[in-house]
Amino acid sequence: MSTPHPCDVRGCDSPAAVVFDAAQVTGVAVEYAVCPFHNTALQEGETFDVSEDMNEMLMGADAPLDVINSLINTNVAGSTVTLILGRDGVEQKRVTFRMSATEAQELATDIKDWG
Ligand SMILES: [Zn+2]
Repeated sequence: MSTPHPCDVRGCDSPAAVVFDAAQVTGVAVEYAVCPFHNTALQEGETFDVSEDMNEMLMGADAPLDVINSLINTNVAGSTVTLILGRDGVEQKRVTFRMSATEAQELATDIKDWG
């Protein structure tokens, strides 16, 4: 008997049982072998992402957080931007960073290019 392929979700060592197509996130057909537990979560619509090298699926604590809100505070020292991150509208983390007007403009230009 060969050893079963482990689940492709990061951090999961359970034997894979089902093939899952991640095209809804990657835009191209990419198949991952997942265990029954993660397959159920995926069928129930749990959000996921894939790693940059596309070798692993990211779920639960490894999945990226959503930006729920952002706050900009400008004073004489410059501007700070606070991103409120979380899942399903529930805050899990705040990240604050300082940004110059030039950096903010560059970022705004980059974001426009995504669309
Ligand atoms: Zn799994």
